Amino acid sequence: MGSSSRQAGREPSEEPTIPQKRRYTLNLSSEKKKDSLLTHSGYDPTIALIASASDIGRVRTINQDECGDFQHPESGVRLLLVADGMGGHRGGEVASQMAVRRMGEVFQEDSTVEPSRLLEHAFNEANQVIFERSSNESELAGMGTTAVALLLDGSPAATLAHVGDSRAYRMREGQLEQLTADHSVVGELVKRGQLSLEEARHHPQSNEILRALGTRNEVQIELTPIDIMRGDRFLLCSDGLSGMLSEPQISEILSEGHPQEIAEKLIEEANQAGGMDNVTVQVVVLPRPKSEDGITRAPSDGKNPGAAAAGPWLRWAITLILLAGILALLLLGLEDPANSP
Ligand code: CA
Repeated sequence: MGSSSRQAGREPSEEPTIPQKRRYTLNLSSEKKKDSLLTHSGYDPTIALIASASDIGRVRTINQDECGDFQHPESGVRLLLVADGMGGHRGGEVASQMAVRRMGEVFQEDSTVEPSRLLEHAFNEANQVIFERSSNESELAGMGTTAVALLLDGSPAATLAHVGDSRAYRMREGQLEQLTADHSVVGELVKRGQLSLEEARHHPQSNEILRALGTRNEVQIELTPIDIMRGDRFLLCSDGLSGMLSEPQISEILSEGHPQEIAEKLIEEANQAGGMDNVTVQVVVLPRPKSEDGITRAPSDGKNPGAAAAGPWLRWAITLILLAGILALLLLGLEDPANSP
């Protein structure tokens, strides 16, 4: 299979540095619904604390990355996505957005399908819609996108799917582990032991990927079951992060703090290191039981933190006002006949 190069888009000399408005999407998940859903080996997917952030970087003039955070309203199952588009003037941006949108739709249609089949179906659907559009619109010809997806369904085995060089990492007990192998030219060299991870980061062909969504009629998807435990932290990211920061740097930032702070810090550090590409991250923290992480969780309705605590007082106040109103009406009713002329 031929490689798809994003070299041209990454060449700083071809794209003048124009400061653009940053695109930031921070999304903090809501608190768990019921402790009763917790089992010894599983977890309630709604307890996951999640933050997403995407930034244009310091060199590019357009952000071709996209991310998505979907939660099924009934089952609470979560689908997290990062996509990194490529091709043409608008193509990359269109492809990554189409991928996230279509995969979200497939997920919302039926999240009860077995996770690996659901992800496979979602990736194939995204591949199809992008490929068809690029075939029909000449200015979008050749567009495509990477994608990495994490499905959290509460079982002890979460499911990862990926195509291209967007990555997933897991941090457990302070140890960072890369869960995905890049479908890229240098990724292959790393797999064969011909390049170290550090050498790969600085390799001139580091942008050339071997698989993408939307560039062909069919796509080969890599599905990976991964075990998951309370206390685990996950990171999904585009190569704008993994290309700018070393594993020890990522590890240090991911090891502590709230997902939102981590997401912001990762983007900040990637930009400090040069910000040569768009940077997109999704950070997932599965709190330990009894919040051993020291993380202050969001309130149950995801709204004003004071609202939950104020609830009982508010109900009492409303009851008292209603009672006073009824009493006043009764008194007026009694006095009325005497006062009337
Ligand atoms: Ca990229």
